[in-house]
Amino acid sequence: AITVEKLNTEGSKALFAKTKMYLVEGVASSFHKAADEEYPLCLERGKGSKVYDVDGNEYIDYIGGFGPMLLGYSPEAVNRAVVAQIERGSQLSATTVSLCQLAKKLTEIIPCAERVSFQNSGTEANMHAFRLARAYTGKKKIIKFEGQYHGWADEEKISIDAANVKELGERQAPARLFTTRGQRRETADDIIILPWNDLELLEQVIEQEAGELAAVITEPIMCDSGPILPKPGYLAGLRDLTSHYQVVLIFDEVITGFRVALGGAQQYYGVTPDLAVFAKAIAGGYPLAAIAGKREIMEAGVPAAGTFNANAIAVAASLATIGVLETEQVYPRLEQLGGLFVQGMRTLGETYGIPLFCQAVGSICILMFGLKKGVDDFRHYLTAADIAYYDLFVRKARQYGVRFTARRGRIYLSTEHSEADISRTLQVAERIFAETKN
Ligand code: PMP
Repeated sequence: AITVEKLNTEGSKALFAKTKMYLVEGVASSFHKAADEEYPLCLERGKGSKVYDVDGNEYIDYIGGFGPMLLGYSPEAVNRAVVAQIERGSQLSATTVSLCQLAKKLTEIIPCAERVSFQNSGTEANMHAFRLARAYTGKKKIIKFEGQYHGWADEEKISIDAANVKELGERQAPARLFTTRGQRRETADDIIILPWNDLELLEQVIEQEAGELAAVITEPIMCDSGPILPKPGYLAGLRDLTSHYQVVLIFDEVITGFRVALGGAQQYYGVTPDLAVFAKAIAGGYPLAAIAGKREIMEAGVPAAGTFNANAIAVAASLATIGVLETEQVYPRLEQLGGLFVQGMRTLGETYGIPLFCQAVGSICILMFGLKKGVDDFRHYLTAADIAYYDLFVRKARQYGVRFTARRGRIYLSTEHSEADISRTLQVAERIFAETKN
């Protein structure tokens, strides 16, 4: 028997309305409220795999603080390290023993990391990676792929989303889509947009542009849409092409880093980029980002400025996080949980005649409705995936005490999720399928 009750969230509604009187849009990041939500859940706390809203409702959470909470909310090991560091100062603005340890550790666990540098967010770290690639090559253009998000800076926030396939323009020469008012259009002049997972087209463009091309930036798994997996051989092909034309290959591992393997997707797929960017899960919930890469590029003479770079609390949190990831059987455990979720969803889909594609890579689960196998690129995703049904699923799940990310629907597992959480989640999914099948 399925026992799931709709939750009362009047407290969230009221708090959101009040906050909006003072805070623009009522949220601190536009991701904190889905476009189709009347009001977002307002949270009081999080512990382990659960979060609690201001009405006292408990939710099984798969949003994971938008990625960082790989060890769950308020992880003990990180808490201890943070408290100890608070006593010694949160912001020392100096080289410390811990900073040296963290830098050394990253060079040991990340395949491309001969040297590292630090920033506070993925946005900044990708900006720094762009600059490094340009400084090193003396060229200025960068290839970026449709539907991939690298941050909110002018040059990064181009063609990250589209209302429909038409908007994306011609496949051979996609449009550059701006998403934000106030964005400087000229910043897009040096950004070339291409569809992902298409080596042939990429080769043509790289060949044409090689004289001006500094870098290709890609997420190794396209997590911010879909998510979408690389075709077999795609990343290796990308590596060969960029090496051949002496173009810097940047992996944006902001989501995949520490999640699909300790050394990121580059370790998982065995393809080593020239530069890689990490953030989110690197520090168990504290703001820290790292750029890792080949020594000659990292030392191209681009200073990494930033008051809060390698903030002492974030460094302590990162060392503690990596300590847990290294010493415990984290990745096999996450794989086992992902397997349970995937198998359960597939079975439910079949039982209720709801076509769906579900897969897990490390602690990232992929769930798309309307199709039975994955898609290859963002165009395919916009055309084939039933995004409206996904959003309906997310909305209903929230009413039944399970929190998923809207639309761009990667589902984050943590080490704190249990078999009972997965089983409860599947009960909720079953309830939703039963209500919505026609
Ligand atoms: N790259 C990717 C792949 C991301 O998913 C994000 C954030 N969602 C960023 C970069 C930007 O990171 P941040 O939000 O820390 O600036």
